[in-house]
Amino acid sequence: MTDPRCQPAASHFVDGRPLEDTAGTAFESRYPATGEVIARLHAATAAVIDSALGSARSAQAEWAGLPPAQRGRVLRRAADIMRTRNRALSELETLDTGKPISETLVADAASGADCLEYFGGLAATLTGEHIPLGRDWAYTRREPLGVCLGIGAWNYPIQIASWKAAPALACGNAMIFKPSEVTPLSALSLAGILIEAGAPPGLFNVVQGMGETGAALAAHPDIAKVSLTGSVPTGRKVAGAAAGGLRHVTMELGGKSPILVFDDADLESAVEAALWGNFYSTGQICSNGTRVFVQRGIRQAFLDRLAQRTARLRIGDPLDEATEIGPLVSAAHREKVARHVRLAGDEGATRVTPPLALPDGDAWISPVVFAGVTDTMTLAREEVFGPVMAVLDFATEDEAVARANATEFGLAAGVFTRDLARAHRVVARLQAGTCWINAYNLTPVEMPFGGMKQSGFGRENGRAAIEHYSQLKSVYVGMG
Ligand code: NDP
Repeated sequence: MTDPRCQPAASHFVDGRPLEDTAGTAFESRYPATGEVIARLHAATAAVIDSALGSARSAQAEWAGLPPAQRGRVLRRAADIMRTRNRALSELETLDTGKPISETLVADAASGADCLEYFGGLAATLTGEHIPLGRDWAYTRREPLGVCLGIGAWNYPIQIASWKAAPALACGNAMIFKPSEVTPLSALSLAGILIEAGAPPGLFNVVQGMGETGAALAAHPDIAKVSLTGSVPTGRKVAGAAAGGLRHVTMELGGKSPILVFDDADLESAVEAALWGNFYSTGQICSNGTRVFVQRGIRQAFLDRLAQRTARLRIGDPLDEATEIGPLVSAAHREKVARHVRLAGDEGATRVTPPLALPDGDAWISPVVFAGVTDTMTLAREEVFGPVMAVLDFATEDEAVARANATEFGLAAGVFTRDLARAHRVVARLQAGTCWINAYNLTPVEMPFGGMKQSGFGRENGRAAIEHYSQLKSVYVGMG
């Protein structure tokens, strides 16, 4: 049995309609809260991939020839449709990911709609420049790249698909999107919505599959650009495959981001930021502030308040709007997170929050705060991607900055202080692509998002994303 709310008409969405090929490897999607199978699908065969590429190529040529304002209108209509279906899309996302409906109602399809609306509005504003050269002159044209490939992680499936599709399509590209096999469903909904909004068939195709499907597409000569959201090891492989064809690449990868809390910080707001910057989406967020550096003067007060707040977290049925914490995405992922919890204890970190009562099921884990974490412990070095917070303490600003930067990652960082001169000074020294001052993990579409160092390159959102989905052509005009 599958869930009628979830089982799609077919595994893939190609050339404007659902497409099935049962010769592909069968796989299933489960509701993480109970482990029940909610949908059965098949990975793409070579025939599905060929037809996705063929239809994307012809749709792209047609789409790029439209007036940009017309392209923008399609994206804005898609945003409107998404908003009217927010409840159903949120339920689907909750069933596929296990994330509480209190989150998916506001952070998933809603964020996707914001992105479609934003880039829909930008589409008609994308222009080149006029360059006077005396008698002669030159101009630039901003042109699309061609057929782009999006590969998504499982934590924000429809948000990731929209964050990649919206700027790609606004610039006149087509996109083939491969969701994570763990959360294959909501990208299919986005594909249907784009067709309803007036996109030509083939402009946004969804093909399902495991890593091999993504790898085959990333190395395909017809793909002009690859945008991956995933882990650093996958990023190395995908960037390597794309490098073979010198394809454009955007990499949104993992992190081990620091939050720096100075003695003069507003305690309540710093505690809330650490709490939700570690436990939102049950800790499965790339930019989470998983190394919380607290200055010694407020360390104890911070830990006491954090422990009180953690004890009050509401864990339970993800479809209940009062629930704050759901399960992890799968039992297999739970095993990885549980290993990190055991290891942290073995390496000498102190657990300052008792385990909370959990519902039955294999994917549940209690949020946990460890204090006394040192820079060399595994918990301070490796991405856990679960609700496991590491609190470290520091004495001086210089020390905090040096230790915050002592990581291979560079995705995000936060600074909490009432001294705004210090806040800006510290942020300027932090090696992270996205920083917050007295706030954390807010990612409005207007603000570019992305990483430094091993956390990746390229940017999503904001006008900056346009640079990564278009190319400039320079035209010299001789007037003689
Ligand atoms: P993975 O790296 O395991 O997978 C990401 C995607 O890549 C999946 O669709 C996966 O397919 C696919 N894939 C795997 N191997 C290959 C390959 N060789 N070639 C092409 N595609 C491949 O990440 P997770 O799904 O486990 O997501 C968690 C990770 O994503 C974390 O590290 C997290 O930090 C990062 N992330 C980064 C974000 C950012 O914006 N910086 C945001 C969200 C998450 P399949 O799953 O089917 O194997």
